[in-house]
Amino acid sequence: MKPRRFEFHSPASIEDALALAGRFEDEFMFYAGGTEALIGLKERVIGVGHVINLKKIPGLKEIRLDAGKLHIGALVTHQEIADSPLVQDVLPGYAVLSNNVANIRVRSAGTLAGNLCFAEPNADPPSMLAALDAEVVLLGAQGVRSVPVRGYFEGPYCTVREEAEFMTEIVIPIMKGSRSAYRKVVYLNRPSAGVAAVRNVVNDAAAWEVWAGSITGMPERLDRVCALLDGLDAVDEAKIMDAAAQDMAERDVMEGVYGSEAYRKHLVAVLAVRSAMECMQ
Ligand SMILES: Cc1cc2nc3c(=O)[nH]c(=O)nc-3n(C[C@H](O)[C@H](O)[C@H](O)COP(=O)(O)OP(=O)(O)OC[C@H]3O[C@@H](n4cnc5c(N)ncnc54)[C@H](O)[C@@H]3O)c2cc1C
Repeated sequence: MKPRRFEFHSPASIEDALALAGRFEDEFMFYAGGTEALIGLKERVIGVGHVINLKKIPGLKEIRLDAGKLHIGALVTHQEIADSPLVQDVLPGYAVLSNNVANIRVRSAGTLAGNLCFAEPNADPPSMLAALDAEVVLLGAQGVRSVPVRGYFEGPYCTVREEAEFMTEIVIPIMKGSRSAYRKVVYLNRPSAGVAAVRNVVNDAAAWEVWAGSITGMPERLDRVCALLDGLDAVDEAKIMDAAAQDMAERDVMEGVYGSEAYRKHLVAVLAVRSAMECMQ
């Protein structure tokens, strides 16, 4: 199908992009890599009269480390994150995750910010970013605000970001001695479920963050798994499976083409074991 006719704008600054967004109100969309936007426009699920291209805005392609935090600019693609020597050095688990998002065509054009703004429920970054306690920076007419990823998602395709708010960057704290791993099961190019495990060391003791993704439309902390792992010296597969099953019993998991509720809950338990094991190696 051909998209509805739209005007294509290429502002040269964030301020100009925001001014256009303010002018066109409900009749616009931002456009970064276009991997989701183009499908939506062509299928006419998205029918806006104005597309605001972000790619000509300078300064949004940077990955940098500043005061112990990794900053990833709005136009950085998944593949650029995967290939970044800096990310490979300070956050190797996240580099591996990025290298396994979708396929090479989507990774080369699709941005991390676009992934988080679109909030497609079957996505890899949210659970890992939640486990790492990352924040997204949003800029709008009211000014700038930082939102923890843990409170950013509200459900499938739904976040606390206002339509006219621009995501300028993603900020991830780097914890010394921390290890991270992400495991997923993929069906038709997207994850049916994924689990991110992060093992931090706080006051010489392990402090785990284990989060499941692609199951409810928002990252879900596996509280019992985290508490169990905090007190374990080695992975106990049966205990983790049991704790994850209890965590999952309280969740309403999406049904559909990516699997039944029972199947996806089982995947979460298996993936919790695997990602924890990888962190402990
Ligand atoms: C075939 C296919 C397979 C995929 N498989 C996976 C997968 O396995 N795992 C996974 O995690 N993801 C997967 N994805 C999703 C992919 O990660 C996203 O499509 C990509 O990251 C979106 O980025 P983009 O730059 O192309 O966004 P665009 O398509 O340009 O934009 C997406 C949305 O975000 C908005 N937007 C973009 N940037 C900003 C910004 N800076 N501020 C405010 N709004 C913004 C746009 O207005 C639009 O609504 C898949 C996508 C496709 C098409």
